[in-house]
Amino acid sequence: MPMHYLFTPEGDAALVAILRGRPLIALDFDGTLADIVDRPSDARIAPELALRLATLTEHLPVAIVTGRSVDDVKGRLGFEPQMIVGNHGAEGGFDLREEAARRAELDPLRRLLIAHQMQLSGAGIDIEDKGLSMALHYRLAPDADKALTLISDLLERLDYPVRTFAGKMVVNIVPLLAPDKGAAVHDLVAACTASGALFAGDDVNDEPVFESAPDHWLTIRVGQDHPESRAQYYINQPQEMQRLFDRMLSVLITPPASGTASPAKP
Ligand SMILES: [Mg+2]
Repeated sequence: MPMHYLFTPEGDAALVAILRGRPLIALDFDGTLADIVDRPSDARIAPELALRLATLTEHLPVAIVTGRSVDDVKGRLGFEPQMIVGNHGAEGGFDLREEAARRAELDPLRRLLIAHQMQLSGAGIDIEDKGLSMALHYRLAPDADKALTLISDLLERLDYPVRTFAGKMVVNIVPLLAPDKGAAVHDLVAACTASGALFAGDDVNDEPVFESAPDHWLTIRVGQDHPESRAQYYINQPQEMQRLFDRMLSVLITPPASGTASPAKP
């Protein structure tokens, strides 16, 4: 089913409907709340957006569900969400021992990348070790195709199974059985006994949420660059998140119109 633009009467009705329950608000970070920038270390949430997010946390549980590590994203938010899940769903769960074991699963990959560090940086590839996942960024590579070939050649030499998936100018590598964002958001909904989730994301690693969302959730893809996305709705760019939060806050502070008159106060 093709995505529909969120800011339409139908989209608004769906937004009002989910907010009348008590949903979890789960949000990706890069490309969703913060613009994609050349240097990932520059990404931040704009203050006017952070202000609205802070107000949202007073009404509903808010979770950041990001490909970054939890520690990395914390200082970029400008507000305090109730929950943060990092490393594409693999970090911030409820089983810390399992997380430590999964971290060690990437050691063979770490050794391989360190051994080929010169070659990788020569091709403009930046290695990022996020503990429970690794990212090979090629945004600054002079030849992206060459960079991708080098990455896939290297990964073929790895004799330990891992899961890899593409992102925006990045190849991500996670432990084979680490939870993805879909599993993570379902866990969060259960943990805060929410009625469902409103989830927004912009990238490949957000698709497991869109794909696994029950019909009564509200899923939003930021950008129309992936027409086959399984999200229900789209908005055009991170700047439209502000309009979304303004609408959400106005719904949350307006009491629902009811067919039955409430008893008059004496
Ligand atoms: Mg993203």
